[in-house]
Amino acid sequence: MTAKPIYKRVLLKASGEALMGSQGFGIDVAVADRIASDIAEARALGVEVGVVVGGGNIFRGVAVASKGDRVTGDHMGMLATVINALALATSLRKLDIDTVVLSAIAMPEICESFSQRATLHHFSLGRVVIFAGGTGNPFFTTDSAAALRAAEMGAEAI
Ligand code: UDP
Repeated sequence: MTAKPIYKRVLLKASGEALMGSQGFGIDVAVADRIASDIAEARALGVEVGVVVGGGNIFRGVAVASKGDRVTGDHMGMLATVINALALATSLRKLDIDTVVLSAIAMPEICESFSQRATLHHFSLGRVVIFAGGTGNPFFTTDSAAALRAAEMGAEAI
């Protein structure tokens, strides 16, 4: 008997710290590959997967709030999530998992921009959707982005 998934559509929050593995900073590719293979297993069961990635392994806006400009710091943090999203997308594509990165902040030369319509379109084509750029607003975190994107994509679980 083949396993039957409990949920049809889920949102995974992958924090920056998870991607860092045991290193003190940056991306541990082995960890990104492991997360990708977990996602591939869920895809093999037919589960639709959206992923919100954090950026704390590279930059957190709050870290510079007392020294400078919180809003600029948050912009830097959001850019960090895009770097992580590109890394995770690469790990998924190595496994032949069709993957798209949708950013809350437009950067068309690098990835597509987020919209709910685009998200649902990519799910209908069987793609994993990685949400980058958090909510696109300073003073938020990627946990807020996870709740927001889960609601927008109609996820049954986070
Ligand atoms: N960030 C933001 N708005 C958002 C999401 C994230 O300004 O909607 C910035 C914020 O500076 C945050 C950083 O991006 O510290 C990295 O995100 P987060 O700390 O949530 O990453 P995680 O803890 O999951 O690695």
